[in-house]
Amino acid sequence: MPLLVMKFGGTSVADLARIKNAAGKVQREVARGYDVIVIVSAMSGKTNELVGWVEQTSALYDAREYDAVVASGENVTAGLMALTLQEMDVPARSWQGWQVPINTTSAHASARFVGIPRTNLDAKFAEGFKVAVVAGFQGLSPEGRVTTLGRGGSDTTAVAFAAAFGAVRCDIYTDVDGIYTTDPRITDKARKLDRIAFEEMLELSSLGAKVLQTRSVELAMRFKVPLRVLSSFEDTDEHSGTLVCDEDEIMESKVVSGVAYSRDEAKITLVTVEDRPGIAAAIFGPLSDAGVNVDMIVQNISEKANGGAVTDMTFSCPVNQVGRAKKAMEDAKAAGSINYHDLNVDSDVAKVSVVGIGMRSHAGVAATMFKALSQENVNIKVIATSEIKISVLIDRKYMELAVQALHDIFELEKAD
Ligand code: ADP
Ligand code: ASP
Ligand code: MG
Repeated sequence: MPLLVMKFGGTSVADLARIKNAAGKVQREVARGYDVIVIVSAMSGKTNELVGWVEQTSALYDAREYDAVVASGENVTAGLMALTLQEMDVPARSWQGWQVPINTTSAHASARFVGIPRTNLDAKFAEGFKVAVVAGFQGLSPEGRVTTLGRGGSDTTAVAFAAAFGAVRCDIYTDVDGIYTTDPRITDKARKLDRIAFEEMLELSSLGAKVLQTRSVELAMRFKVPLRVLSSFEDTDEHSGTLVCDEDEIMESKVVSGVAYSRDEAKITLVTVEDRPGIAAAIFGPLSDAGVNVDMIVQNISEKANGGAVTDMTFSCPVNQVGRAKKAMEDAKAAGSINYHDLNVDSDVAKVSVVGIGMRSHAGVAATMFKALSQENVNIKVIATSEIKISVLIDRKYMELAVQALHDIFELEKAD
C-alpha cells in the first residue's frame, strides 16, 4: 500500500472542530488508497503555555523536566485525532514517541533522530489499521527519557517518518497555503511560490521563516523526501501548496527569492577583552556548554592598552538565552579564564535576511540591500553573509519596515 505522511500544525488542530476538519483530509487520502502516518502538533498556544509554566517554576530549568512537560501537548492531540478518525470509521491508532519508538539523542530540548524502527507501526498496518497518528516533536533518549526536538519540531518528525517509511510524499498542512517570498503576515505583497529549492528553504528556515523547521528541510534534502506545504483550511489536491525540491526542478531564477526575519534576538558585547590566541575559545566554549545558540560574531579591531592588545567581542543569540549567556560569562570571568570590563546587552534587536541561490553568480545584492535600509533610516548593527544569504541585525522596532523595504527593492511581488 502506498504511504503518505500528513502533518498538522498547532492552528490546524487548535480545537475539536479543526481536528475534525483535519481528520476529514486524512479520511480522503485513505479513501484514495493510502496508508497514512499522521503527525500532530499540540493545540495552538499549548506548547507556549507549557514552556511558560516551566520557566515560571525554574529559571535555569533542568532540560529533562522541560521535555517531560512540553512533550505532553502532542499526546493530547494524537489521542483526540485517533478518536476522531475512529468516529469516522477510519481504523486509526495513536502513538507516543516512546511507543514507536522514536529513538533520539539525549540532547534534551534539541534532540536529534537516531532511528525509527518500523516494526511496531508496520505490524499495526498489517492488522488492518489504515492510520497511525504519531505525536510530533517528541522522542525517546537512550536513557529511556522523553526528549523534544526543538520548537517547530513536528515538521522534522513528519519528514523523518516519511524517510523511514518510504512515503510517497510528506505533506505539511498549516495555516498558510504555501511558502511565500516572505511571511505573508508582514506584507500583503508576499507572493506564494509554486516551488522552492531545498537550499533556499534551508536558509530561510534557519534565518527565522518558521513555516518549516530547519532540520525538517535538512532531512528532506538528505533523504530525497518530496516535501509540500499546504493549507489545512482550504480544499486541496495534489497540485496545491508549495513543493520544496531540487534546484534543477525550478524554472524561476530571481537573484533574491525570499526575505526572512527573526524577531527575538539579543546582542551582547564583552567590552575590553584581551586579544590573544585562545580568547574566542575561552568565550564561546562556555557559551556552548551553557546551551546558548550563538549566531553572529564580530570582533573589533584590536587596540593597545596597558601594554597588551584588547578588543571588544560582540555576539548575538536568542533573547531568551541572555540570562544563560550572562551567567556563563560571569562564571568564566570569576574562574579567571576570561576578563572583560563590561558586558553590554541589547535585547531589542531583530535579524533580517535576504536569501537566493542567484546570489552565487550576481554581485551587488549587499549594496542594494544596504541602500534600501538606509533609505528607511534603519541603522545596521551587525552584518553576516554566506554564499546565498545576507543578514543584518537592526533595532527590533524597524523589523517590519525593513522586511517590506527589502521585499520591494528586490521586486519579490513580481513573478519575474
Ligand atoms: P504550524 O503551527 O502549522 O507548524 P507555524 O506557525 O509553525 O505553523 O508556521 C506557519 C507560519 O509561518 C505562517 O502562519 C506564517 O506566518 C509563517 N511564515 C514565516 N515565513 C513564511 C514564509 N516565507 N511563507 C509562509 N509562511 C511563513
Ligand atoms: N508544539 C511544538 C511547538 O510549538 C512543536 C510543533 O508544533 O512543531 O514548537
Ligand atoms: Mg510549525
